[in-house]
Amino acid sequence: MPHIVDPAKCEGCEACVPTCPTNAISMVDAKAKISEECVDCGTCIEACPTSAISPP
Ligand code: SF4
Ligand code: SF4
Repeated sequence: MPHIVDPAKCEGCEACVPTCPTNAISMVDAKAKISEECVDCGTCIEACPTSAISPP
């Protein structure tokens, strides 16, 4: 299961996007979206200034 983005908390800063080793994060309608390519490493959580990303 991929990590989860809370769209209510995501401010669309894109800071998480380049931190993902599998390029699983894309921006959709100015919100981060995590695909099935996610390997649950947790790196993106540390990059998010609004704590919008959570483990599955
Ligand atoms: S948990 Fe790791 S693999 Fe999954 S989206 Fe975040 S950085 Fe990418
Ligand atoms: S770092 Fe957080 S606020 Fe910024 S785009 Fe990613 S999920 Fe959204």
